[in-house]
Amino acid sequence: MFSHDTELSLLTVVDLVNTAADSGGIEQLTTARHVEQFITDHHFSGIDPRDYGDLPALYAVRDRFRSVFGLGEAAKIAAQVNAMVAVAPVSPRLTNHEGYPWHMHYFAPGASLAEHLSVDGGMALAQVVSLGETDRLQICAAPDCRAVLIDLSRNRSKRYCDARACGNRLHVAAYRKRQRSGSAPLQPS
Ligand SMILES: [Zn+2]
Ligand SMILES: [Zn+2]
Repeated sequence: MFSHDTELSLLTVVDLVNTAADSGGIEQLTTARHVEQFITDHHFSGIDPRDYGDLPALYAVRDRFRSVFGLGEAAKIAAQVNAMVAVAPVSPRLTNHEGYPWHMHYFAPGASLAEHLSVDGGMALAQVVSLGETDRLQICAAPDCRAVLIDLSRNRSKRYCDARACGNRLHVAAYRKRQRSGSAPLQPS
């Protein structure tokens, strides 16, 4: 469906959106140190460390990313994606930095962290729109959760986020309830 690069970029978008308190937890990016850790964990290259502390710029990109989840409507998502890729020059090139397999980068050399995220995430989301897969951009189905997810499963079966392990959480709760009501199956399914 999507290329491996695109999937990784989409998962980075999901992880970034889910750092916000809007996702149902607490804000996870409150210091430059947190941002640096996020960038390290997601294997970004060419980031100016001075950008780690620019939280307002990062939050703005993150809010725009969030706006495309759970929307379903391609025209609205397309408008948001066009705004993402318009923040900075798009400059596609192949790279194998730090021993990673060859993959595309779309941000221009010298881009700020916010521009880098917006352009690379925007190009990945553009693939989702142009392949007609916007219904894969979802908000977690757990009642107390607002985390986002991208359903990369073949049969479009993903409903719960990984950020808060909601699928597991609800499964355990349902199992306990069955046990309490005396109708637990012999083997947990
Ligand atoms: Zn890269
Ligand atoms: Zn969830």
